Amino acid sequence: MSASAPTCAYCQRHVAVTEFFPFCSQRCRMADLGQWLSGSYRVTGTADDALESRDDEAGNDEPQEKLS
Ligand SMILES: [Zn+2]
Repeated sequence: MSASAPTCAYCQRHVAVTEFFPFCSQRCRMADLGQWLSGSYRVTGTADDALESRDDEAGNDEPQEKLS
């Protein structure tokens, strides 16, 4: 086994271990983070659609009226 040079986790270029590791630069780090976030937002959006319910809003209003 030969010592494998570390590669950027985003663009796969050989990269020295830096503050940006496992990325070669902040640009790649942010690009990868952007991909991760956009994927996360998609999941959240889908969950919001599934949770959309008027019954839930009515249930929240009732306790407030009793307290006031
Ligand atoms: Zn890179």
